[in-house]
Amino acid sequence: MVIKSAEYLISSPDWEKCPTPTWPEYAFIGRSNVGKSSLINVLANNEKLAKTSGTPGKTQMINHFIINKSWYLVDLPGYGFAKRSMSQRRQWQQMIENYLRKRPNLVSVFVLIDSRHAPQKIDIDFINQLGEWNIPFSLVFTKADKSTQAEVSRNVKAFLQKMRETWQFLPPNFVTSTVKKTGRDAILTYIDELNAQ
Ligand code: GDP
Repeated sequence: MVIKSAEYLISSPDWEKCPTPTWPEYAFIGRSNVGKSSLINVLANNEKLAKTSGTPGKTQMINHFIINKSWYLVDLPGYGFAKRSMSQRRQWQQMIENYLRKRPNLVSVFVLIDSRHAPQKIDIDFINQLGEWNIPFSLVFTKADKSTQAEVSRNVKAFLQKMRETWQFLPPNFVTSTVKKTGRDAILTYIDELNAQ
């Protein structure tokens, strides 16, 4: 997919205030600081589209972007931000659950995982939650340039192995580096294919 246009549209506090569900929609989520904003900027070919976070987890909004005037890219607030209060966490949980379960045009979610680490409970828990809600998703292993290829492969393998404990089918997965632009084409091609279905 060639990116011809990428525009910020709106930030919404809940699913009901999200823009009219005219176009297919793809949401990006992950632990805060996983590299979500950087990846969105690389995908959209725009260094400033999603703000890379100085203060992670500060804004809990559903951010809509329009890509090629034909699909929505959604930047969701991340999870696992230590400084969030209990009530902020509950608010996040409710907002994300409602958005994921009620947004009618949501095609798929990209769950971002830091490729430097062994499987983390917080990511597995979130994925299992998606499974319970029947939400289609794929995995994106980020920051691949920060470790050796062998380490990244080992962590990806370990993550998928962990998933096999409870999942019969494994989701598609991508390995990305925003520094080297690795994985960009694969993700955009995948979105293209889903849009064509
Ligand atoms: P977010 O909180 O998930 O939106 O994460 P950001 O996109 O703000 O990234 C967090 C930090 O990781 C920033 O300092 C980024 O420059 C850095 N980062 C993100 N992706 C990559 C990557 O692929 N490679 C490297 N080396 N650094 C990355």
